[in-house]
Amino acid sequence: MTAPAPLADGERPPAAGALDVERLRASFPILAREVHGHRLVYLDNAASAQRPEAVIEAVSDCYRTYYANAHRGVHALSERSTDEYEAARGKVARFVGASKSSEIVFTRGTTESLNLVAQSYARPLLGPGDEVLLTEMEHHSNIVPWQLVCEQTGARVRAAPITDDGDVDLDAFARMVNERTRVVALAHVSNALGTVNDVAAVARLVRDRSGAAVVVDGAQAVPHMKVDVSALDCDFYAFSGHKMYGPGGIGALWGRGKLLASMPPYHGGGAMITRVTFERTEYTVPPHRFEAGTPSIAPAIGLGVAIEFLESVGLDRIERHEHALLSHTVEVLNDLPWVRVLGQGAEAGSPRAAVVSLVVDGAHPHDVATILDEQGVAIRAGHHCAQPLMERLGVPATVRASFGLYNTHEEVDLLVSGLHEVRRIFG
Ligand code: PMP
Repeated sequence: MTAPAPLADGERPPAAGALDVERLRASFPILAREVHGHRLVYLDNAASAQRPEAVIEAVSDCYRTYYANAHRGVHALSERSTDEYEAARGKVARFVGASKSSEIVFTRGTTESLNLVAQSYARPLLGPGDEVLLTEMEHHSNIVPWQLVCEQTGARVRAAPITDDGDVDLDAFARMVNERTRVVALAHVSNALGTVNDVAAVARLVRDRSGAAVVVDGAQAVPHMKVDVSALDCDFYAFSGHKMYGPGGIGALWGRGKLLASMPPYHGGGAMITRVTFERTEYTVPPHRFEAGTPSIAPAIGLGVAIEFLESVGLDRIERHEHALLSHTVEVLNDLPWVRVLGQGAEAGSPRAAVVSLVVDGAHPHDVATILDEQGVAIRAGHHCAQPLMERLGVPATVRASFGLYNTHEEVDLLVSGLHEVRRIFG
């Protein structure tokens, strides 16, 4: 793995245990660029994070020096590509605490992972009257695949309510889990509010009341905290490479080996079979059963390097750093009477991670985003693919600042001065 940039002359190392953010920033080439004449302040990490040099280099090195199709040829390049691709699978498995590499299916990302579970696990299982239980804070990726499979099977989607502070209402949730519940699917971390759901507690509660599988959308968790699927005791865990400093177009699904082994494929094609005749096809074992066609080889290898990067920085340290940024942001924003921060109320019971959603009195979120962009500050404005959540919160859209390991307190201050500019313009 490529180490972060060395200390410059006269540069002091950070306090023990703290993140050396300036040194880390130097590993991300894009952070050096300017936008509209200002240094880029990138606070849109929940949409997609940036990539360190090591990841860019790994992808480039694959294409430059050894790329060929994997699992196909016996020639040297194909063998090397296969080895690197499978080694990346091993890194992903270790990263999330999977007991075996074969429990990791490479997909295009969280969306594909969740659709895979809906179609391969849930579809054969669901029937009329069965229930899939979600929460009101889910991303559309964790709603629409379940609606599709419910339309196909006659089952129905239910959504557990959240509190005004942006936590899942666990009592209401518990009352909604019953013997008809076949799947419970929830975000580990909300992309719109940053709520960190207690997945282990949810899994315990579900197991006490039903035989439902617990499916976790981990897209917003894996870049920000240590995830261990066996400690969470869930059944499936989905995530995307591009949000964890890896390449786009690659992601993964972890599934319990026993469940994966019992599931039919949902895509057909090359690489997922043992024998094909016109009469019938025998499918190979997981994970390849779920990886039809030529895989995203270089992106998978890049994802493995992103994981090594995250591990070398240390997820504990990342979590502490980002939490400090979050507290700083919320504290400053709470002093601005014309800003309303959503889902971070004093009564909130669950922790929060790396995301602040807000609305500015009298200014549409898109106008806020445009004014901030003019100052080089990249944030997201919109419904964040969580329209039911926006409806629950009573807003059409929010402004969302989302942090990554390379963000600084100074950047939080630039965000806040950008908001003051919005206020000045909109009165
Ligand atoms: N779930 C959550 C919580 C997300 O934030 C996202 C990405 N915005 C997704 C799912 C979908 O991820 P992808 O687009 O990478 O498939």
